[in-house]
Amino acid sequence: VEHAISPERLEELMQLAVHVAGESVAEDERAHPKVGAVLASPSGDVLLQCHRGEIPGAHAEFRLLETARERGIDTRDCVLFATLEPCTQRGSGKIPCAQRIAAAHLAAIYIGTLDPNPNITGRGELYLSYSMEVGRFPSGLARELMRMNGAFFAQHAAAHAPAVSPYASRGPELNLVFPKPRLSNDRNELLQQTLDLVSGDGGDIWVRAGDLSWWREAQITFLEARLNGRRVRISTSTSNPEDPAFREVRTAAAAIGAVVVDQPPNSNRIRGTMISPGTDRSAMVVIDERSRILLRAPDDQGLLRLLYEELAGQLDDEAVTGSVERDPELEPLTERQVVEALRRNVPQYAGAEIAYHEVETEPLRPLTRHLERFKVFRAARLEALQLSHPVAADAARIVGSPWPITPPVVEMHGNDSIVIDGTHRAFMHHRRSIDRMRTIVVTGVEAPLPARPLAGWQDVEVYNTKLPRERRYDNYTEANFRPIRKAFATLAGLLA
Ligand SMILES: [Zn+2]
Repeated sequence: VEHAISPERLEELMQLAVHVAGESVAEDERAHPKVGAVLASPSGDVLLQCHRGEIPGAHAEFRLLETARERGIDTRDCVLFATLEPCTQRGSGKIPCAQRIAAAHLAAIYIGTLDPNPNITGRGELYLSYSMEVGRFPSGLARELMRMNGAFFAQHAAAHAPAVSPYASRGPELNLVFPKPRLSNDRNELLQQTLDLVSGDGGDIWVRAGDLSWWREAQITFLEARLNGRRVRISTSTSNPEDPAFREVRTAAAAIGAVVVDQPPNSNRIRGTMISPGTDRSAMVVIDERSRILLRAPDDQGLLRLLYEELAGQLDDEAVTGSVERDPELEPLTERQVVEALRRNVPQYAGAEIAYHEVETEPLRPLTRHLERFKVFRAARLEALQLSHPVAADAARIVGSPWPITPPVVEMHGNDSIVIDGTHRAFMHHRRSIDRMRTIVVTGVEAPLPARPLAGWQDVEVYNTKLPRERRYDNYTEANFRPIRKAFATLAGLLA
């Protein structure tokens, strides 16, 4: 880094920027973010500070650079502290702040939070990194900013920011000019494509399913949809309605506030997920015995209409009359409850010290070498949900669901921090350069690890399919496996 500002002084300047942001004035009734910008000299003296709306509608960074120009301040090698990622697009005729900042020849910029608008998210940061050092505020200050701008973040919480390309593995076909999305036969990929379709839309969701065996993996995406007021209706058809596994997923689906209707065995020959049913932006992942296709309006309008009519017989207002789409209930779990669940149910943790801590993401050492693409996507959706619904921020149970929301688990062995559970989330943080993460940290574990830890994130690869354990781990020993998932399941407290 070109500047000579101490870490302590950096943090003071970040705090000042957050304070300045608090003075912002909105130009109209819409949810605008409060933004503060502070310009410091290469040695850390405050040269200028600005907030949004000093001139109605003016972005803080724009105003700050204009003022610097008016006062003849040389911005070369200065350091900028901006509480929100600088914009990369503006109305016609206006120059985005990121472009202005790049032209100011700064040494570094520190950014409070990324812009939640998916058209900007990450782009401002990436663009600026071509011409200067880019850093982030510590996560405590970032959270303060998210709280300060709650309505602004909430407005974009359901926005579609897929962590991965939905059709990533299609290879050479991507070179086609207008590739027709063709769906995978692989279970994981099909699930990914379905969840991507659901989270990319804001309308109602109709699902025609068999035994709903994939529901656990889809829970977060559908919960997010329900929390955003979208109606979810599911029709099931299974040959064994009394199967305990089916009862469990059916109950879990009802827990997020979906209306679930059961059809006789073998009645749902064509299955799939339809979004915005009956509208001109409808789309459906269609799965029948031979093929999997994605139908999208307007091209497939005719076929979608036919399928809509067939599904409507099971799922429209008249068909589900008397069933109420109730709101899902999230109940926060205390640190004590989460810690106790682990202490009691993970034999290796009987004498360990267990507590919530924020850990650094970069030095974490994963155990598993292969991650699943759709689970990285799911981790991003969970983060979106936690930003928009603070009740789920650390740990929460979804009343009626056997699968609670819990933080990742990290074990300390000497100076090494090793991810035991929640590797996909930790990886997602790493990939998005989020430097700290709230986790459950376990210290003083005497038992050997279930596998040899990897050196770092560079050893991790993302696959579309799930690979067998022997390929995911080095030196895996079943006897040392920590039953974390089972321990967390006791938190649901429902199946009794
Ligand atoms: Zn701007």
